[in-house]
Amino acid sequence: MKLLIVILIALGGSSLCQDKDRYAQERNRMVESQIAARGISHQPTLQAMRKVPRHLFVPSVLAGEAYTDRPLPIGYNQTISQPFVVAYMTELSRPARGKKALEIGTGSGYQAAVLAEIVDTVYTIEIVPELAREAAARLKILGYSNIVAKYGDGYKGWPEHAPFDVIMVTAAADHIPQPLKDQLAEGGRLVMPVGDPATVQQLIVLTKRKGRITEQRLAPVRFVPLKRLNMK
Ligand code: SAH
Repeated sequence: MKLLIVILIALGGSSLCQDKDRYAQERNRMVESQIAARGISHQPTLQAMRKVPRHLFVPSVLAGEAYTDRPLPIGYNQTISQPFVVAYMTELSRPARGKKALEIGTGSGYQAAVLAEIVDTVYTIEIVPELAREAAARLKILGYSNIVAKYGDGYKGWPEHAPFDVIMVTAAADHIPQPLKDQLAEGGRLVMPVGDPATVQQLIVLTKRKGRITEQRLAPVRFVPLKRLNMK
């Protein structure tokens, strides 16, 4: 299995060299037509999305579709979000240099990479062991030394590294886990899809000021459910 993953990543790597310009062009087009055109204006987010090689975060057979306007399957019944949703959540979380981020739901590692282009350090947790392993290997090969990835249940956050300026949950639940609220830094922002995990959710942004949390409800979205270890 490990060998297979390394081979797939290596194949992806060689196609990066051959098709570098083509994918760079596709990425620029994606940012212009799907993201900037729909109102995302946070420059560091747009720059990060122009840079991160999304085609290396999807199964190699889907590399040609990596820059299309939709989510794609990444195995184990999970998906990499539509580029616009990644950009929207990134902008909402107000990432900046000097900040520390926590992502719950590493998946392919793409959202973590986008955040890591902007903030100082990204901690990311994935509950499917195979995805956690694959993402960690991919991020290492791509040189993301400021991402710390682990396998586990992100519901509890990562108390050893708290508090976080940015917390992003890329899986849906009917409530925001209390440990994540507790681990949000003063002035920090938490972005998460909240609602019925089986149908549609709403993107929620929590902001912590002087210890008080305020909530903003934004666009309807569809995410895969937040799972729990040792439950159900
Ligand atoms: N951010 C990812 C896509 C997220 S898909 C990317 O950029 O590719 C949602 C991911 O959350 C899935 O990989 C799923 O396995 C994971 N997940 C679900 N419940 C979780 C939990 N409790 N803790 C950590 N990860 C979880």
